[in-house]
Amino acid sequence: AAIIELSRVTKTYGRAPQPALADVSLRIEQGEFALLMGPSGAGKSTLLSLIMAMEQPDRGTIRVAGRDVHRLTRASIPYLRRNLGAVFQDFKLLPEATPLENVRLTLAVLGLRRRDVLARAREALARVGIDPRSRKPVRCMSGGEQQRVALARALAGRPPILLADEPTGNLDPALTRDILRALSLVRAAGTTILLATHDPVVYHHAGASRVLHLEMGRLTEDRVLERAPSFV
Ligand code: ADP
Ligand code: ADP
Repeated sequence: AAIIELSRVTKTYGRAPQPALADVSLRIEQGEFALLMGPSGAGKSTLLSLIMAMEQPDRGTIRVAGRDVHRLTRASIPYLRRNLGAVFQDFKLLPEATPLENVRLTLAVLGLRRRDVLARAREALARVGIDPRSRKPVRCMSGGEQQRVALARALAGRPPILLADEPTGNLDPALTRDILRALSLVRAAGTTILLATHDPVVYHHAGASRVLHLEMGRLTEDRVLERAPSFV
């Protein structure tokens, strides 16, 4: 069964004349690394927001790990949090908190046992090359470091799915490669990745297995990358 499944999803914001997403259907299987490409305004963020249940579709259904995410009750939000980790272009970290605090707080929300939280947070930071003992508030760190903290936070709960919305949008090519290197490890661990980007560097070096292309809210291309262009 697909781990993410959209069936005929349409979303229009307010009184916009055009839908942000129009009749989009797609299935992503466990372990895939799919890139969501297309120009600015094509609907990439909207698609990710719908999967995260941050937006509601007008029509259609979205299933994550078999469950219709828009029919979950409020009390079931933890279900989504356990299944989805997310990273964003602007990191969305707590700027005054340390890397460890950022990761711990999110893990605590997942309802993990207290003794597991600290160990997992440290392990997740170490895995992306951030010193878990750092006392620096994350706002004093470079963009590349902040995005690695965000990645650690997204993955510390070991969700089966990672959603990434332009994760390298604020990073130069060298830092972009650091993030891609970290993502290749995430993928090797079996995590399903759906990554929205319009960055050709990511397309050429991420090692993705599939490319989805959105154009004005429509899925115009869905292509398997036979021999994934690998970065390493
Ligand atoms: P992308 O991520 O590919 O740049 P978006 O999903 O952000 O595309 O945007 C798709 C369309 O929806 C655009 O026309 C954008 O202006 C519009 N849009 C996105 N978010 C909102 C919002 N919160 N309110 C109104 N319109 C929005
Ligand atoms: P905010 O007020 O900044 O939106 P949230 O509590 O909504 O804070 O989110 C905190 C972090 O949890 C986000 O930055 C994101 O990484 C993650 N997150 C938010 N919503 C979801 C979701 N539906 N599924 C998985 N992770 C989420």
